[in-house]
Amino acid sequence: MTGAQTRGPRVVLFDLDGTLFDHPGAFRRGILAHTAALGAPYDSVGADDIVAAWQAAEDLHYERYLAGEIDYDGQRRARARDFTRRFGAEPPADDAAALDWFRGYHDEYRAAWAAYDDVDETLDALEAALPGIRFGIITNGVLALQERKIEKIGATARMEHVIASGELGVAKPDPRIFAHAVELFGVAPSEAVYVGDRVRVDALGAAAAGLTGIWIDRDERGWGAFEADAAAWDIRRIVSLTELLGVLGVATARR
Ligand SMILES: [Mg+2]
Repeated sequence: MTGAQTRGPRVVLFDLDGTLFDHPGAFRRGILAHTAALGAPYDSVGADDIVAAWQAAEDLHYERYLAGEIDYDGQRRARARDFTRRFGAEPPADDAAALDWFRGYHDEYRAAWAAYDDVDETLDALEAALPGIRFGIITNGVLALQERKIEKIGATARMEHVIASGELGVAKPDPRIFAHAVELFGVAPSEAVYVGDRVRVDALGAAAAGLTGIWIDRDERGWGAFEADAAAWDIRRIVSLTELLGVLGVATARR
């Protein structure tokens, strides 16, 4: 249909961590503050090594949680144990101590919560360019925690639906979580776009469900191994949310 592109989408859905919410920044500040408080042996380790080790532990065990291999507290305990072992520190004595160790990190992580600075201006610009546009979030996480983050970044009132894998029992990139979201909004997949910071999990997952997949590459890493898949699925790449209107072709929309 002529003009469909210039009218733009009816629904814009976002990933939360690494897309709207500066999870990498809070993650870094959180583990550095936690290990600084613990002192030895971490005081003789470089900040980048600490962050990399904590990231490796999260990547491994959060993935196991999403795959249903361990429960939510189990991935927290496993991350604490891996990390202390990695640096030869005294490991947590038991499950309760491992969770306590994790909570020490999590308190610092929460203290560092913040939105990226391009979020508000982008949502404002989308609302101005596309009157009646509706927003939502699809996140691989536990609903209560993710809702606290959305509250902290001041986006609660603007998000019509928040879909969390922890509630649904299906995680991105499974197309069913994207299909569930557009059904909640009552729109066709082709009327929705999804913006996320992971090519495979976010953009390709959304595209497989019939949405327009947009990859936000904040660190400007480039497509790498995903170049052919991204081209085949017509994934768009942006490095800041402020590019969203341009990439949707609605920057100069007139009503
Ligand atoms: Mg993300």
